Order: sequence, then structure tokens, then C-alpha cells
Amino acid sequence: MDEITRLHCLAVMGIQSWVLHAPTKATVSLSPMIKLTEKPTEQVPLLKVSSPIAEPLTLSWQQLQIQVKTCQKCSLARDRIQTVFGSGDPKANWLFIGEAPGEQEDLQGLPFVGRAGALLTEMLRAIGLEREQVYIANIVKCRPPNNRDPNTEEIVACQSYLNQQISQICPKVIIAVGRVAAHHLLKTQEPLSKLRGKVHYYQQIPLIVIYHPAYLLRSLTQKRKAWEDLQFALNFYQTGA
Ligand code: URA
Ligand code: SF4
Repeated sequence: MDEITRLHCLAVMGIQSWVLHAPTKATVSLSPMIKLTEKPTEQVPLLKVSSPIAEPLTLSWQQLQIQVKTCQKCSLARDRIQTVFGSGDPKANWLFIGEAPGEQEDLQGLPFVGRAGALLTEMLRAIGLEREQVYIANIVKCRPPNNRDPNTEEIVACQSYLNQQISQICPKVIIAVGRVAAHHLLKTQEPLSKLRGKVHYYQQIPLIVIYHPAYLLRSLTQKRKAWEDLQFALNFYQTGA
């Protein structure tokens, strides 16, 4: 992604890109400890520096991964084996967002690798996509005990990681996989049956809701609906309509 597109994505996400100000000669001249060897020229604007502490930089993908790996921001940190950051192409056009890691994901450190994951992989194939071509992440990065739904406190604690992932990936379409992801991203409690089959937006990025593959494992009669959801998403992606 070029710098302009990246900054656009950050702006769309409402994330301000902080840059480190290089000290100008003028700022150096403010310090009594430093001997000024060269006078600032007329062209150099005098910049008042109110604090010597550098403003925070936008984290790189790698820095973000490290932060998540060691995160202790919510109580899910206590019982996890490891965090699950996400997997796939960080420049993907498609971003799939699930709910939370389960047992297998916690063991392997990868999203959607258990039974539901196998079905998600099949669902992707059905629309001509390999896992490596998309990005797959979750609302929370640590496994909730006994696979319960993540609670609001945990979701809020974790959301800046997902937002930073979204701003850096800058996908063309977000697929909210299942109820928890859809409800959190769309700030609604509407049933999935009402949310599917429509184009929603998350921070101005088109978002489509699909049934969670774990739900489909329990209710195979819903498979046709999952297929319709994927067709809807693919059609939107290809035609923008
Ligand atoms: N279900 C999810 O929502 N995410 C995973 O990573 C695995 C199962
Ligand atoms: Fe940190 Fe998110 Fe894990 Fe909570 S769920 S400990 S906020 S990474």
C-alpha cells in the first residue's frame, strides 16, 4: 500500500497518523545545554516544542503483533495459552472477522483452525478464495474460558487492536462471521436473520454479515443460507452492488 492510501485508510478509521518531528535548528536553540553553531536561517520556521517527549508513532504491523502477544489488558489473558493475532495476507481485499479463539486456536495460535475453521476454509473455497488470499481475525485475541461469548469489557479492551488491523489492511470488504462479530461491529442487537443479505458499513468500509460456521455445524439445514450469504458477498465485491 502506498503512503497516500495508507494515510487515507488511517483517516477513514479515524486514526491519526503521528509523525516524529525532526528537531529543527530552532528547537535546538531552545536548549541552553546545546551550543548553537549555526544560526537558523529566515526560511526555518521557529517551532515551539512544549514537551520533549516524542508523540506516539502509528504502530507497525510487527509492533502491533508484539503488543498483542504480551497483552494483559483484560482478564482473558489469565487463562489463554497464547494470543491469536490473525492470519493471512495483511494486504488482503477481504477481511473475515470472527468472534474469539476456541480451544484449537488457543493451542495453535491461529484463527479458525478447529472444526468451524475447516468449514470456513470450505466456504472460502466455494467463492474461489484460499485462506492465504484473505485476512482472518477475531474480535478478541484470547480464548474465553469454556468458549463462552466474550463480554463487553473484554471486547472494548481488545478493540483497538482490531481497529489498527483494519486500518492497516484497509480491506475492500469486511465479512462479519456470526452474531458476536456482527453485533459488536454494527452496534446492534438485531438477529442475524435481519442483518444478512445487506451491505452495512464499519468506519466507511462495506461490511457483510454471514452465519458463523460453528452454527452451521449444528444446523446443516442452514447451509443453503450460508451459500446465499457468500454469493451475496461475492456479487457485492465483484460489482459493488
Ligand atoms: N470461531 C471464531 O469465531 N474464531 C475462531 O478463531 C475460531 C472459531
Ligand atoms: Fe489483550 Fe485482547 Fe487478550 Fe484481552 S483479549 S488480554 S485485550 S489481547
